[in-house]
Formats: sequence, structure tokens, C-alpha cells
Amino acid sequence: MKIAVLKETRPQEKRVALTPKIVKDFIDKGFDVLVEKDAGLLSSFDDESYKNAGASIVNKDTAFEMADILVKINPLDDEEINRLKNGQVVISMVYHRLQPELVKKIAEKGAVLFSMDAIPRISRAQNMDVLSSQSNLAGYKAVITGADNMTKIFPLMMTAAGTITPAKVLIYGVGVAGLQAIATAKRLGAVVEATDVRPETKEQAESLGAKFISVENDNDDVSEGGYAKEQSAEFLQKQKEAVNKSLFSADLVITTALVQGAKAPVLITEDQIKQMKRGAVIVDMAVEKGGNVDLSEPDKTIEKYGVKIIGTTNLPSTLATNASELYAKNLYNFITFMADKDHFYFDMDEEITRHTLLAKDGKVLVE
Ligand code: NAD
Repeated sequence: MKIAVLKETRPQEKRVALTPKIVKDFIDKGFDVLVEKDAGLLSSFDDESYKNAGASIVNKDTAFEMADILVKINPLDDEEINRLKNGQVVISMVYHRLQPELVKKIAEKGAVLFSMDAIPRISRAQNMDVLSSQSNLAGYKAVITGADNMTKIFPLMMTAAGTITPAKVLIYGVGVAGLQAIATAKRLGAVVEATDVRPETKEQAESLGAKFISVENDNDDVSEGGYAKEQSAEFLQKQKEAVNKSLFSADLVITTALVQGAKAPVLITEDQIKQMKRGAVIVDMAVEKGGNVDLSEPDKTIEKYGVKIIGTTNLPSTLATNASELYAKNLYNFITFMADKDHFYFDMDEEITRHTLLAKDGKVLVE
């Protein structure tokens, strides 16, 4: 089968779905690989390196004309959907709950759609889990972005001119991104605190050297399948009271809290921001899903009450080389699990297939 790597069309996107190394791995397995011209340029992979790995460099028309499987990071745009042929397989992130229309349009073209962000969070699918591979890098970059916007350093420093006390970092949400943010901030020498609604995250945060701020919850039913559920207004109020002391003395705050299928919870209000330290920085990683911070806006830095509030939407793209390497490996593990060089298996009794196959034979297969 022929796999075609499409050039990303989302504005500011720098990643690419396959790297030269993974192209070679696919070719070794008997697949052919076509790469749209300049697809990897912004991730530092030029056409020459793909050619050396055994790929053919093609224009977009040829990619759509010849491919059995089209791969991308972001969903196809409308112009690309119009080019699809009956039976062609498309694999990308889709976020289908946010855009059911997109799945319908692809189904209507008779194409097959797999979603990389719908891979179940089970042990045997860990090596295909793009949410984890990308969030991990995002957690790292959030700390670096915060550090770059602070007027202070992270570590304790004793100098002849006096002692600098370490920066205080507070992290909301101890999922994949939050854990990497804790690890990165600790490595840089900060004093780190973290909070989450899922009690099991206490041990995980502490194992990385953070102090965990527990919030008493009358409701035991805080999560489902590892994901946090939406919390009550009472809980969110209690959480604010428990965390306020740390929030008001923090130099850097990183918010990562998400709830499946719902808007991100507001964890920091304008009133709380007023009471924060002058010079403090907040990086809101949940801004695209509605934001954990009252004043944050996507891809903007707002300065109010002496606090910088940074809304970041696509941090993995700013680390395009590593993010593409990990995405490509996830994709390789996914495709070689689902298919061989001649055909896809489409085993609907198998859990990963059932979760990720969104459209086939003209039908939408998800709600
Ligand atoms: P996520 O991005 O959905 O959410 C980030 C964090 O925000 C979560 O830890 C969540 O509990 C927290 N959160 C939600 N509401 C909050 C609130 N009001 N206050 C504070 N924190 C709040 O999470 P994720 O990183 O995608 O991880 C989700 C789950 O998947 C976790 O249980 C994780 O361990 C699990 N996981 C499993 C695998 C695997 O086995 N393949 C891989 C990765 C992650």
C-alpha cells in the first residue's frame, strides 16, 4: 500500500506526520511512501532526507491521486476532503466530538477515517498514544515559556552579591502534561506545588518532588476511565480556598485541567489574579478548550494587575522536530497494528479499531 504524507495546512503548524526515519521503517515493512513537497521543512526534515529514506517527493495532486493511506497531524481541510476518493484511508487527529460535521463529510466521500486522538488509554496502546506523546512535550514547553516570561530565575543561587530564593511554581492538573511540567520545573530548581481532583495523582506528583495540595471532596466519584469528571461549583470553590495561599505567592502557574467532552473548568478567576504577586506569570494550557483562567485568550499574552497571562494553543508545534518524531512513531505502531503492506484488517471486535475507526463505507461509526 502507498502511504502519502500531507503537508499540514493549519496556520502556524510546524509538525509533520512522518519523519525520514519512520518512512524507512515503513519501506522496510513493504509499504511505499509518498511525501508532499516540503511537508517536513518546518520540522527540520528536508525533501532530500525523505528521498534518502526511500520516499518519493510528490505534489498534492499526485499524493491524493496515488495514495491508499493519507496521513496528517491535523484533520483534512475542506479542500482536501473534496479531493478524497472512495475507499481511501485517512489517519490524523480529528477531535470528532468537537467537529462531527467533518466526520460526516469524509464519510460522504466514501473514505475511511481513523482518529489518532481517539486511541484508548490502555496499556497495549501506549506506544500509539499521540495525546500522551504530544502533551508530554507541551508540559515541558509550558515551563520553558513561563520561565522565558518571568523576571526571576528558577534555582536557589548563593552569590557574593546575595542569595536568590528559588521560584515557586504551581501546577493545576497532574495528567501527562502536568507531570512533565512538574519534572521540568523541579529540574530547573523551582519549588513546585500541584493539585488535581483525582486522588491517585498525589503520589505521582510527590514522586517527582512536588508538594501536593489535596482538596477535600464530598463526592468520591471524581473520575471515569482515568479522566476527571466535571466538578460541582462547591468543590471548585473549596479548591480555590485550598490553593489560594500557594497561588498568591507563586511566581509561575501552569494550568492543564481538562474534562472529557466538557469545557475546561475555570480554576483562576479575575478576583484571584488581582491578589497574585506582581510579576507572576500564568500559562493556561487549557485555553483552546475554554481556559482554566478567567482572562486568558488563545495565542495571546495579556498583562493585567501586574500578572502576565499566556494562552497557548499548540505548544507541541513549537517543538516540531521532537513532536513529529514521536507522532510518527505512534503512527507507525498504529498502522502496523491495523494493517500490513497489502491491506487493513478492520477487526471491529478489537478495542483500538472500535475506538479509532470513525467512518467507513459511507457511514459515520461514532455518535
Ligand atoms: P487531561 O488532559 O484530560 O486532564 C489533565 C488533568 O486535569 C487530569 O489529571 C485531570 O484529573 C485534571 N483535572 C480536571 N479537572 C480538574 C480540576 N477541576 N482541578 C484540578 N485538576 C483537574 O488528562 P490526561 O493527561 O490526558 O490524562 C488522563 C488520564 O489518562 C490519566 O488518568 C492518565 O493517567 C491516563 N493515561 C493513560 C495512558 C495509558 O495507559 N495508555 C496514557 C496516558 C494517560
